[in-house]
Amino acid sequence: MEKKQIDWSNIGFGYMQTEKRYVSNFKNGAWDDGELTSDANIVLNECAGVLQYAQTVFEGMKAYTTEDGRTVVFRPDLNAQRMVDSAKRLEMPPFPAERFLDAVNQVVKANEAYVPPYGSGASLYLRPYMFGSNAVIGVKPADEYQFRVFATPVGPYFKGGAKPLTIKVSDFDRAAPHGTGHIKAGLNYAMSLHAIVTAHAEGYDENMYLDAATRTFVEETGGANFLFITKDNKVVTPKSDSILPSITRRSLLYVAEHYLNLEVEEREVPFEEVKEFAECGLCGTAAVISPVGKIVDHGKEICFPSGMEQMGPTIQKLYDTLTGIQMGYIEAPEGWVMEVK
Ligand SMILES: *Cc1c(COP(=O)(O)O)cnc(C)c1O
Repeated sequence: MEKKQIDWSNIGFGYMQTEKRYVSNFKNGAWDDGELTSDANIVLNECAGVLQYAQTVFEGMKAYTTEDGRTVVFRPDLNAQRMVDSAKRLEMPPFPAERFLDAVNQVVKANEAYVPPYGSGASLYLRPYMFGSNAVIGVKPADEYQFRVFATPVGPYFKGGAKPLTIKVSDFDRAAPHGTGHIKAGLNYAMSLHAIVTAHAEGYDENMYLDAATRTFVEETGGANFLFITKDNKVVTPKSDSILPSITRRSLLYVAEHYLNLEVEEREVPFEEVKEFAECGLCGTAAVISPVGKIVDHGKEICFPSGMEQMGPTIQKLYDTLTGIQMGYIEAPEGWVMEVK
């Protein structure tokens, strides 16, 4: 397989059109067979459900080249299941999990020239998504849907080392109790845009959202879950029904427990406790873990002992172990890596 001539380490995180994408349509109560297409554009009725009432859910995952030259995707079965859960919550017909895996496999295979080589730090980002496609003017679920998967190469997340982030405690809420915070819906992102643009304008990298009901417990950021390390080296992550269940976070907790022999706690985390932690990180597919150096709560600064120059030691170990599993030089738990064939 001849790779594209791309400056892999400098492409950043942006959309680059690749050759093939997968499309399947739901009509008259059933999904069609689906196929790869070269057409990157979608033609929709002006009144399509997604355009009027935001009936859309998505996933995000990566394909990459392992040390021994295989093309793999990390735990796509969990993305498939999460998309089923997301679809159900928005009254959309779930795309079957086994077909999701087949679609991902087909898209990566058809765009293998865009899977960055081992060692580049880059990867092929995959975006499965689905949306209501027929005209809907009264408020109700659409009758027709489209499921798609496209691929776009993205550069290494940390160029020139992982710089700890500064985040602010947001005055906005991300998700209501009993709302849609636990599903991967575009609508959760639409309403977070004002908060992140505001945070950036004030010089912060990210927002920390607290629970909307009491504003006393830590939830997550706009697109990543929190991980904290206590001074006695326990791994703590917030538990809440309105947090998006990050696959990276779930994988890191497993790694902490089974590879690093660390104690793990998934529980409510009062914001008051945050100043007691030794390290803090944000986890998601994009970065695996981004270290957090400082959290600012209305002028009051919490500075973690790990500082503003590098990852803390335990977060570094978690990062190294999970990326080692992904890249194939540390043995993966059964079923964690899907080889593209
Ligand atoms: C996608 C997402 C994450 C990260 O999930 P991963 O499965 O680890 O990529 C965290 N929070 C939110 C709100 C998300 O949408």
